[in-house]
Amino acid sequence: MEAPTQKYWELRLQSCKAALEKNNFEAFIAQTPAEAGQIVIDQILPEMNVKSVSWGDSLTLYETNVLEFFKKDSEINLIETFDEKASREEIIERRRNALLSDLFFSGTNAVVESGALVNLDMTGNRVGGMVFGPKWVVIMVGRNKIVSDLEQAMDRIKNLAAPANAIRHEQKTPCVKTSYCMDCNSPARICNIWTIHEKSYPKGRIKVILINQDLGL
Ligand code: SF4
Repeated sequence: MEAPTQKYWELRLQSCKAALEKNNFEAFIAQTPAEAGQIVIDQILPEMNVKSVSWGDSLTLYETNVLEFFKKDSEINLIETFDEKASREEIIERRRNALLSDLFFSGTNAVVESGALVNLDMTGNRVGGMVFGPKWVVIMVGRNKIVSDLEQAMDRIKNLAAPANAIRHEQKTPCVKTSYCMDCNSPARICNIWTIHEKSYPKGRIKVILINQDLGL
């Protein structure tokens, strides 16, 4: 007999996929990050004529290694917006250009099981690409990001994802010391812009790959 938790996640991911599709997202299920990367190459890319690619910061995306595929393709303009060797001014300019890329990758902070994506950004370059500009968006998401409703999504983000991200980036914010949100006024505050994608518009512009593992923050 299939392990109960295996069956549980199979059902939960299928249900989430169906809800996303009802909301005009194109949705896929992968068992591993590597499989998610392969879905991009085998099933998503062939329908596009991609000349430029960029991405928003996402640990889940990095796990898939899909960016390596584009790095090897000299025909693709890969807009690297996290290049530590580039100046801050150069990074901002690249992030502006990234909003006009053909294909934009990102993670998401939460997926509501009714089929919506919820995110909170510091500067907006990540959610900006999800909202408008790039022709296509691919979201990589681990199963641990699935929540029951919007309230749970916001709670997850403010009290887990945001403090953990602040810790990851060694920000000088109070949550780095408390582990939970203090609704700070810090100049380093990473919580500035909320987005809720209730549906993908146009239909199919945003593709979501649900990965059957706990990934990212
Ligand atoms: S608002 Fe401030 S304290 Fe709260 S999670 Fe964001 S950065 Fe941390």
